[in-house]
Amino acid sequence: MSRDPATDQLVDFKKSQKNIPRMTTGSGNPVDDHLNSLTAGPKGPILIQDFSLLDELSHFDRERIPERVVHAKGAGAFGYFEVTHDITRYTKAKVFSEVGKRTPIAIRFSTVGGESGSADTARDPRGFAVKFYTEDGNWDLVGNNTPIFFIRDPILFPSFIHTQKRNPVTHLKDPDMFWDFISLRPESTHQVLFLFSDRGTPDGYRFMNGYGSHTFKLVNDSGEPVYCKFHYKTNQGIKNLPADKANDLSASDPDYSIRDLYNAISRGEFPQWNFSIQVMTYQQAETWKFNPFDLTKVWPHSEFPLIPVGKLVLDRNPSNYFTDVEQIAFSPSHLVPGIEPSPDKMLQGRLFSYSDTHRHRLGANYLQLPVNCPYRTVISNTQRDGPACYTNNQNGAPNYFPNSFNGFQVDHCTAISKFSTTGDVARYSSDNEDNFSQPADFWNRTLTEEGRKNLVDNIVGHLRDAADFIQERAVKNFSQVNPNFGQRLSEGLRLANKKKANL
Ligand code: NDP
Repeated sequence: MSRDPATDQLVDFKKSQKNIPRMTTGSGNPVDDHLNSLTAGPKGPILIQDFSLLDELSHFDRERIPERVVHAKGAGAFGYFEVTHDITRYTKAKVFSEVGKRTPIAIRFSTVGGESGSADTARDPRGFAVKFYTEDGNWDLVGNNTPIFFIRDPILFPSFIHTQKRNPVTHLKDPDMFWDFISLRPESTHQVLFLFSDRGTPDGYRFMNGYGSHTFKLVNDSGEPVYCKFHYKTNQGIKNLPADKANDLSASDPDYSIRDLYNAISRGEFPQWNFSIQVMTYQQAETWKFNPFDLTKVWPHSEFPLIPVGKLVLDRNPSNYFTDVEQIAFSPSHLVPGIEPSPDKMLQGRLFSYSDTHRHRLGANYLQLPVNCPYRTVISNTQRDGPACYTNNQNGAPNYFPNSFNGFQVDHCTAISKFSTTGDVARYSSDNEDNFSQPADFWNRTLTEEGRKNLVDNIVGHLRDAADFIQERAVKNFSQVNPNFGQRLSEGLRLANKKKANL
């Protein structure tokens, strides 16, 4: 019988085993019987000296770590990044230092809103996070499959995510929560169009693009900075699932994307993405018609063309899902010299939030875990101890700085590029920062007529379950993208509401 590599994993494991190892407890002591507990007589009771049983049950009780609040369901793999074009005029980051250079990488793909058991084919953005293991420590590019996001201020992030989670009373996904928030925050319109377009249900993880999304800063050897965005375009071509097929798969194969990635890599069909950047000078940033740090907007290719850089290749499956994928921890604050943050408010919020959540989820020493460890450099600093410290804890090196005992020295050459900032401290509203020009470009220029039809159908199919006043407010926003879009939605909703009333 022919079965796929994922289904055959245990069969392949058996073939790879030369000898069957002796079973042990967690403390390495041999186990004589793992079928029968130690009891006084055949009917019990069980003796507390049965460490084999207690060890088994107590470890089992602690198997689950907190799942990620967002991006809980995911798949991962390993490979390399290879430089194909020189960009050293923009950045001194060693990962880009010469054409042909390869840097080991890990990538985790994910859905966003669902729990770790939810369906891979749900309509949702996809996480596309890349960890580069560089000789200057790890660089995490924690991207998505869309170049933009729903909001531009991190203070709204927990609320936004709550609207995709479960209603606190019914424990059900709630269309009122989602569409209420979306329609009250029109800056979400651009990303909502992406979400309900054909690309909202990618055909697995191999057939979609990735984007660093935020604006970053690149700094070269002379200390000259530019702003930049990162793009990674799939070499497999874009492939999306029709909405009805995505729905069917949610029931018949909720792990569709994990299976597809594992099988492709097992078969030697290594997925690749071409990696490129867009560059904006400081002068351009000063005068550009939009705020270049607004995560709800793209930088148009006509004004900021893609500059080719290299390729991402995945050629190795995880050897263990929990250690390699569940425990992998990305943070946009893991940056290397030559790549720096921009003032993008969402990025600034994530710089804090990601490391913070990993300290909660995995513990203070999460960077010691093998998949997170910056193994191509040596860790030297004043950090010590904490739960589950399993390295040499920096042996006898001084745990304070400065010190007179050759503990470690700082490297002034890696200082961030100086920048000035000015302005009165206040909470500035960005409510009306042109929320509709780029969605209008997307509707008018980017989408085909078939794409527009699918977008309308997909929105109607979801929005029809929200309360009437929320439907009206949402349609009013979409009408500002294009009046015809609004009319088509109104008509679709009228028919859907009529159908509902007749049921
Ligand atoms: P361009 O025509 O130069 O670029 C359009 C981009 O849209 C391409 O990168 C293309 O990606 C992508 N695209 C094509 N079809 C779809 C689709 N059905 N769903 C989502 N993306 C699609 O125009 P601009 O750069 O001036 O951008 C115009 C609009 O395109 C923007 O307002 C934005 O909504 C959207 N867009 C722009 C991107 C950017 O970074 N500039 C990136 C993605 C979308 P591909 O080549 O992979 O097909």
